[in-house]
Amino acid sequence: MRRIGHWIGGDSFPGSSERTAPVWDPAKGCQQAEVTLASADEVDIAIESAVEAFARWRAVPLSKRTEILFNFRELLNANRNEVASIVTSEHGKTTSDALGEVARGLENVEFACGALNLLKGEYTERASTGVDVYSIRQPLGVVAGITPFNFPAMVPLWMLANAIACGNTFVLKPSEKDPSASLMLARLLRDAGLPAGVFNVVNGDKGAVERLLAHPAVSAVSFVGSTPIARSVYRLGSSAGKRVQALGGAKNHMVVLPDADVDLAADAAVSAAFGSAGERCMAVSVVVAVGAVAQGLVDAIAARIAKIRVGPGSDPQSEMGPLITAEHRQRVVSYLDAGRSAGADLVVDGRSHEMPDCGFFLGPALLDHVKADMSVYRDEIFGPVLSVVRVGSYREALELVNANPYGNGTAIFTRDGGAAQRFQYDCEVGMVGVNVPVPVPVASYSFGGWKDSMFGDNHIYGPDGFRFYTRAKVVTSRWPDPATSQVDLGFPRTR
Ligand code: NAD
Repeated sequence: MRRIGHWIGGDSFPGSSERTAPVWDPAKGCQQAEVTLASADEVDIAIESAVEAFARWRAVPLSKRTEILFNFRELLNANRNEVASIVTSEHGKTTSDALGEVARGLENVEFACGALNLLKGEYTERASTGVDVYSIRQPLGVVAGITPFNFPAMVPLWMLANAIACGNTFVLKPSEKDPSASLMLARLLRDAGLPAGVFNVVNGDKGAVERLLAHPAVSAVSFVGSTPIARSVYRLGSSAGKRVQALGGAKNHMVVLPDADVDLAADAAVSAAFGSAGERCMAVSVVVAVGAVAQGLVDAIAARIAKIRVGPGSDPQSEMGPLITAEHRQRVVSYLDAGRSAGADLVVDGRSHEMPDCGFFLGPALLDHVKADMSVYRDEIFGPVLSVVRVGSYREALELVNANPYGNGTAIFTRDGGAAQRFQYDCEVGMVGVNVPVPVPVASYSFGGWKDSMFGDNHIYGPDGFRFYTRAKVVTSRWPDPATSQVDLGFPRTR
């Protein structure tokens, strides 16, 4: 069995831990490798490597750091097909989805290449007699990233590009379900000229995360994953004195007003609910159909679902790949029965879809007449299951969105600009789409939800990323009056 290890000190690091986890090929339903789960001692080795590299990396001029990031951008772009194929092989998503993931990750590298501009401080001349005041931002030291399975290339890039650009060194703990994309990023960073120890990868599970959260040399932690773990990582990390941003799960509502273009809304709902088999934190999992639009919309979505081609992600014909593991598939399937028993109408049962026999496939499913107290509505299912909640008014739709404990993304579909503007003002959600179902901000804005979808202050990537990965210092300086200076400046005393 192929064994996947770590990346420490600028090179592969096999590790000696006996503990491993299976890495599946979800399209075939068989194990393709095993990943080593780092012991606490191995996590310490990665952290020590990052500690050792920090003083040197911090001193590297910004122009040189940027040059390395530019090189990395070029290498990542040139190797995008290989990265995408690793993602497809371990995660299962289609090649086009995987390439989209790499493209969104590349945006973050491009943003980080603007470090010279982004790290500019402020300067106040003559704040007092002979006194100038200015602010600078300095790196934190060693920062850790803990990432989920569903974007094994993009989410690490949300973190590492900005963290490194700011002068920090980084220890990444990727999901043990699809660990290889991170190791490929590590190789590309080395080839781009990144000094050894600046970027390290430790593969592992809960134990590795706990060690990262407890280690005194780790200054900050970026976490992306499910809400219960995000909450616990936030608590543990912040009580250990670390800066923590912890992004959690989601239940994203797409509100469709009666005046919406039904075809446009149905296309959007289908791509946003079933893209990447619904394993996206910004997937639409609830359509809130307002008034008379409901029946036409449900019919239009069901008609489109029937045409979705489900198959291996590596097959260019496939539009939706498998789920990540057999257990996860089973959990998602259980919601189809739970929804029906609770009184929802299972309009399309994903189990009946045409799909390969082997692998962790499940077809897209549609539940109508879902109510807010049903588990299909309350829980994050994280699979290809779309629920429709029918409501009578905009106000009811808004109350539903705002009463939900998650607040990651939401969207409104309407032709009425005033209604859209009102929704943008009223909804308690971090990212809002107007006729855009998956409103993931471009890299020059930051990404983050509200309520149970995010714990911490700074959102991830973009300008907030630079704030998160640096700390501010303000310098108040006084120099002697030129008249008293040793150097004759040729001016009379000015103050
Ligand atoms: P997960 O929470 O199970 O795992 C995330 C990371 O935490 C992994 O690296 C995992 O090894 C680690 N982990 C798992 N259990 C742990 C424990 N008990 N203690 C410490 N660490 C632990 O999430 P997942 O299943 O990999 O990813 C899917 C989840 O991530 C979904 O809930 C999805 O909404 C969320 N997600 C959120 C965003 C966002 O930006 N808000 C983005 C992507 C995914």
